[in-house]
Amino acid sequence: AIEVEKLSKHFGKTCALSEVDLSIARGEMVALIGASGSGKSTLMRHIAGIERGDTSKSEIRIFGDLLQKEGRLAAGARGLRGKTGVIFQQFNLVNRLPVIKNVLVGALGRVAGWRGTLGLFPKNEKILAIKALKRVGIRDIAWQRASTLSGGQQQRAAIARVLLQRSDILLADEPIASLDPASARRVMDVMADINKRDAMTILVSLHQVEYARVYCERTIAMRDGRVVYDGPSKALSNEFLTELY
Ligand code: ATP
Ligand code: MG
Repeated sequence: AIEVEKLSKHFGKTCALSEVDLSIARGEMVALIGASGSGKSTLMRHIAGIERGDTSKSEIRIFGDLLQKEGRLAAGARGLRGKTGVIFQQFNLVNRLPVIKNVLVGALGRVAGWRGTLGLFPKNEKILAIKALKRVGIRDIAWQRASTLSGGQQQRAAIARVLLQRSDILLADEPIASLDPASARRVMDVMADINKRDAMTILVSLHQVEYARVYCERTIAMRDGRVVYDGPSKALSNEFLTELY
């Protein structure tokens, strides 16, 4: 589903990514780990199609279609972006809007010709939004303002929005970093569920390796912009991890 070849990215003299190669198959749920500044977010922004790599020989493909090549976005990049939903550590929601309208934002890019206000969303989309909220376990607070939600509820609302977007890929950049363990588990459970039942391909960056071990069969580790491990999460040794951070 995701193929990255020889991707490098410099910000001035800082090398954020250095010849990154990786391939993630449809339906996988893969953890991305690495110390602060190792390039996790930069890599995700490239896969999301919102950042372009260096002009060196590189390629990113989404379901076989070219997203960017040698630092240039491909002609079909816009359409491909729609296949990818993104969740960040924070600030995923519009605070003044109720939860359900935040979820409906996910449908905006998908429903052709619908640029209208969120007050006039099609009825079937509203039904889908309620369904998505049920799936992530926050149906009861659908009409609450987003600003009143706990951190974990906010992340689950963001996942519901991705469900409404009907993305095939979810890129989650430290979605549980600021959550307590119980909320973190709930958010990870929801992601595991949409990975299994919807065959959603998921790349999730995590600070705590324990979650990678529990939820992801495969882990990719980065250091200084390079992939330094790509394999079974179970096989990550403590020595390696101590050295990684
Ligand atoms: P964290 O765990 O703290 O989120 P990260 O692994 O996500 O770290 P990145 O944010 O990808 O790391 O940053 C990788 C490197 O690229 C860092 O040295 C960072 O300072 C640099 N960098 C990232 N984005 C930019 C930017 N827009 N301009 C300049 N430098 C940047
Ligand atoms: Mg980051």
